[in-house]
Amino acid sequence: MNHQSGAILVLSGPSGAGKSSLISKIIDHIGPTYFSISTTTRPIRDGEINGVHYHFVSVEEFKREIEEEMFLEYAIVHGNYYGTSLSPVKKALKEGKLVIFDIDVQGHDAVQNRLSDITTSVFITTPTLKELKRRLHSRSTDSEEVIEKRVDMAKREVQRISEYDFLVVNDELDKAAEVLISIAQASRMKIPTLQINEFVQSWEAN
Ligand code: ADP
Ligand code: 5GP
Repeated sequence: MNHQSGAILVLSGPSGAGKSSLISKIIDHIGPTYFSISTTTRPIRDGEINGVHYHFVSVEEFKREIEEEMFLEYAIVHGNYYGTSLSPVKKALKEGKLVIFDIDVQGHDAVQNRLSDITTSVFITTPTLKELKRRLHSRSTDSEEVIEKRVDMAKREVQRISEYDFLVVNDELDKAAEVLISIAQASRMKIPTLQINEFVQSWEAN
């Protein structure tokens, strides 16, 4: 049974686990995709580009977008707002693309509540907490205080791994990327409830 509608792949995991590194590694190997660019109020980091990594906006602008119901989901993470804009996601799904979200556990919850039948979810983490701290320090993008916040959050996030379909331990980047490519390819094959119902009806009628 082929279907034209798209699917969603949610990637969550502690900041510093390697989600962005993995996404750049796999993006050219998984067919037509749309990587959802979130909107955030967090300060831009060195090397980040507005409109590429995030849409960086003020708190006032973010709150206006909430009021105008422009988000599929939004959450406060590490003290800053982050949100997924609904309209580009709808468009990409219509075009049959795999929509990839790099969102936190709260965002995953919200997406599962609204679109569980087309969603596959993956929790990505380092092999150990110690390695997470090492990567956050070696990335050198955040202050010591911010890193501590992220580590505290990571300890809470890993308690929710069981809510995800898959766990990918990003030890060796190439190996983790290979696993993620397989998951991404399979996630496209997920059949929406409506199409299953249609199939059953036609199966019974013929
Ligand atoms: P995230 O997007 O989850 O916050 P990043 O992709 O920014 O994480 O990775 C955090 C840091 O860890 C970066 O400096 C990145 O180069 C490094 N990194 C990512 N994956 C690995 C890995 N498998 N082994 C060692 N370092 C890694
Ligand atoms: P960072 O500041 O390191 O880029 O991201 C911090 C956290 O925010 C990560 O866990 C990331 O997955 C999450 N995040 C990024 N965009 C969104 C979003 O649109 N919605 C939600 N709920 N979380 C997001």
